[in-house]
Amino acid sequence: MADALIEAIKLRFDEFLDRYYADKINDIIISFPRLQSIKIDIKDLQKFDPELAAELIDKPEVILEAANASLKGKMSNITLGDKDVHCRFFGQNINTPLVQDVGSSYIGKLILLDSLIVKRSEISPKVKLGVYECTFCNARQHVRIGKDEVPVVCPQCKRRSLKQIQEESQFINLQKIAVQDPLEKLRGNTPTWQLEVWLEDDLVNTVIPGDRIDLTGILRIRPRKNSRGKSETNLYTMFLDTVSIIPKQKEFADLSISEEEERQIKEFATDPMIFEKIAKSLAPSIYGYDEITAGCHAAALWRHRRQVFG
Ligand SMILES: [Zn+2]
Repeated sequence: MADALIEAIKLRFDEFLDRYYADKINDIIISFPRLQSIKIDIKDLQKFDPELAAELIDKPEVILEAANASLKGKMSNITLGDKDVHCRFFGQNINTPLVQDVGSSYIGKLILLDSLIVKRSEISPKVKLGVYECTFCNARQHVRIGKDEVPVVCPQCKRRSLKQIQEESQFINLQKIAVQDPLEKLRGNTPTWQLEVWLEDDLVNTVIPGDRIDLTGILRIRPRKNSRGKSETNLYTMFLDTVSIIPKQKEFADLSISEEEERQIKEFATDPMIFEKIAKSLAPSIYGYDEITAGCHAAALWRHRRQVFG
């Protein structure tokens, strides 16, 4: 994609981020590298520039690159080293299929999936910037994996003698998870379909199986391998390249209680300070309204009791 186009979109994001996300940018500047991303509500972008928001959903690749470049520019007074910063967009309402309906029409688009995590892999390092050296003439080449073509022949002597230099290449953490539709969304007895999802960099190890999340990402494809590890022509596997994760609150009905938890609950029920403790557990940052918070709890628990006991 033309750099001039990315530069023009970046200027729009410079303005958008200053106007809507100045506080979040301060937070990331103060907390970097513990914090490496900011969450951006697509509805804010829709207010600022509806066309740009529509482009983000339709052609996320280019728009994300420009948004991330803008964020990086705003952090120019601190040393990023080889770390990346990310704009993690969430909250779109255009492409929101069921996991089982994700198909070729969504390839390359930004989609939002209400998902249940069913599996999580170990972390594996993925090459972000590969350094290649020719074993014959020592010519060197830097390749941004996923952006540039990985070279096959040496650009200087044209021999097939390139070798990756691992010590100088830059890596990023990658973790794969599998998600499916939440149980209540499955139609009848449809077998559960799982989608492979890639989490990179600061998203790694932020979720575990059983978590219910709003997952936003770009649907991508990669060649399917046969049993001998060779790529099959014209057949591809879909996976979601994650842009953001928003955890969802667990529903009451989804909770399972272990024996140990049951023992703790029963012990807690005999605590003479139970009223005060429950009141203080709701919105602990709000001081001095203990009767009101206790009242909220009483109303919530009474409703639940009626559902359970009729
Ligand atoms: Zn060479």
